[in-house]
Amino acid sequence: MTSTIDRSRRLLHDLVAFPSVSGQSNLPIVEYIERWLAEHGVPCERVRDESGDRANLFATIGPDCGGGVMLSAHLDVVPAMPDGWESDPFTLSERDGLLFGRGAVDMKGFLAAVLAMVPVFQARAAELDRPLHLAFTYDEESGNFGAQRLYDFLIARATRPAIAIVGEPTGMRPIVGHKAGYEMIAEVHGAASHAARPYAGVNAIHYASRLIGHLEERAQAMAAQPRADSPFDPPYTTINVGWIEGGMARNVVPESCRFDWEIRPLPEDDGDAILAGIQQHIDTVLQPEMRARHPDTGITLRHEVIYPALRAEPDGAAARLVRDLWTDAPPGVFSIGTDGGYFQAAGISTVILGPGQTARMHETNEYIEVSELEACVDFLARLPGYQTASWP
Ligand SMILES: [Zn+2]
Repeated sequence: MTSTIDRSRRLLHDLVAFPSVSGQSNLPIVEYIERWLAEHGVPCERVRDESGDRANLFATIGPDCGGGVMLSAHLDVVPAMPDGWESDPFTLSERDGLLFGRGAVDMKGFLAAVLAMVPVFQARAAELDRPLHLAFTYDEESGNFGAQRLYDFLIARATRPAIAIVGEPTGMRPIVGHKAGYEMIAEVHGAASHAARPYAGVNAIHYASRLIGHLEERAQAMAAQPRADSPFDPPYTTINVGWIEGGMARNVVPESCRFDWEIRPLPEDDGDAILAGIQQHIDTVLQPEMRARHPDTGITLRHEVIYPALRAEPDGAAARLVRDLWTDAPPGVFSIGTDGGYFQAAGISTVILGPGQTARMHETNEYIEVSELEACVDFLARLPGYQTASWP
């Protein structure tokens, strides 16, 4: 146990030193993990993105058959502005039992604990009835792009893991659900004219505000019908308009307006249908009006990211594993997107469970406590026994 903790601290030191910020090549950290796995005799494969400069890693310990547990972490981190950091964000720094560094809690701490356990898992590989898989993804923070790719990879395989444990920081308490995310952009293309002759133009800001009004009406309608049995706060699908830009001057009818907005659908709600309803309002009400006055106008909706919800299964195989091995704490939900929705969509029972507090994610002076790493290693050490003793 002590040596595993020491190993996880050394690994965390190395992992934090890779500034694996989303949207950049992650091959240096991928190569580092590949070397570590190879040193311990664990084969793994890369699942690359289209450009080839980012990759997921997928590794298997024990028999390569169906079922088993997949331990999942994302390799990317959010950017760290040095302002406000008491030490270099990409150099792990220990102060009073706290390990500071970008990604320490989200989620290289879990990754380090899993990698530190690899020699232990591998030593018991011959005992395992079912495999232990490791799945490490790229670009989770910028939109779960690696998980989308891994989904295709998992679906194409002849067999799949039964359970996924996504080690995002939850204070080692099980989270079994989160809402979906539709991260959207609306672009309104009007026609400019002098404000003295508004009839000669199409005011993009006016039409943007009409669309925003429509979004607000929909949001209010959903809020008026909360789902009584939903564990979410709030227990309904939400819509938010978060940023807007447009126009040039008071006396000019604006040609363009753009705003960023989002839908967070409950797992039970159909986000695509909500979006289709909004598109229909554009197609049948707003756009015909605009085009009757000027043919080259219109409204375009684009998405930056759409990620699936994690549907809560408090009695699913993943939640049962956590209950059997770790804690009676009732499974909860949170409002943070993870790779887990993609794993569930691939038919894998999924729980979010990892070391460190959720509130420390993406913060300046992000840290994980050594004792939190210890708890995680303690949990991971119970997995091989569960497999052989309790696997259905
Ligand atoms: Zn994360």
